[in-house]
Amino acid sequence: MDIEELFPELRDYAATATRLHPRRGNPGTQDSSIGGPLRWPADEPWPFCVDQEHYVNHLSTPATVRRQRRIYAAAEARAAATGQPYELTEAERAELPASDHSEPEALADGPIALVPVAQLYRRDVPDFAGPADCDLLQVLWCPLDHPETGYNPRVEVRWRRVAEIVGQVAEVPDPAVVYDDYLPTACVVHPEPVREHQYGGLLPEDLDRRLSDWEEESDFDYQVDLSLAPGWKVGGFANWSLTDWHPVDCTVCGTAMTLLLTADSSEYGGSDVWRAVGEPAGTPVNPVEVTIGRGYSLYIFVCPTSFDHPPATAMQ
Ligand SMILES: [Zn+2]
Ligand SMILES: [Zn+2]
Repeated sequence: MDIEELFPELRDYAATATRLHPRRGNPGTQDSSIGGPLRWPADEPWPFCVDQEHYVNHLSTPATVRRQRRIYAAAEARAAATGQPYELTEAERAELPASDHSEPEALADGPIALVPVAQLYRRDVPDFAGPADCDLLQVLWCPLDHPETGYNPRVEVRWRRVAEIVGQVAEVPDPAVVYDDYLPTACVVHPEPVREHQYGGLLPEDLDRRLSDWEEESDFDYQVDLSLAPGWKVGGFANWSLTDWHPVDCTVCGTAMTLLLTADSSEYGGSDVWRAVGEPAGTPVNPVEVTIGRGYSLYIFVCPTSFDHPPATAMQ
């Protein structure tokens, strides 16, 4: 279905995006990845979140989150291999922390090591939109809720020139505590360029109305099926369907910001239309195991005027 054939005006409201199609794997520092290890200069200190007020709610150590995920993954694999219903063994259940267990709140007061969220090499991402001389994008976040960013993780962005990276940092610190939904499981990426169309509420009113009329007679939903790709992606448009559009302006210079990266709670949204051709049945819908709010997306914006201005986020 090519919606531009039916509504040629949409060509003026199109953009490309790169869907990342994360899948669990073992990426290295030379690979593009979600939640994988970052290529980090040996002499550059690892970033920490300091002097920030965290909203504290159910704290875990990263080791506990990883152990928990290993146990669930083993049970899933067993169920798939044997055809038996998914069930945890006695021993597995004993190893899981109690559902109401939380680490001491004071641990969220100290410096919190940022966690790797995305590492993307220019060669892998058609929509790489960084400084002209940079060929590596790294996104990190503080894995706790920040009141000043709408109770979401606080994001930092690094643009690098690979040729200038000397050595590799010996050890990457784990944060003392995390909110488990903000700790990505390492995934390799399978980038795919797609063409997107603007969120309905940001189209001219007449066009948006004609699309709605057309939807009533077709089996497609413009927003869900045909315009905005769900899942982790670079570039493209944001889907504002949670609160409707609001401006995202740079806090330094006031310029309207552009969408850099989307962190999503599901690769397929509500529509199987976006499932990759050949994707085996049973592929996890959330391989990264990051959940934003109640299954929403976190849109990460950058300033088009200067890459030195801080990024901003919006949860939708
Ligand atoms: Zn923080
Ligand atoms: Zn700016």
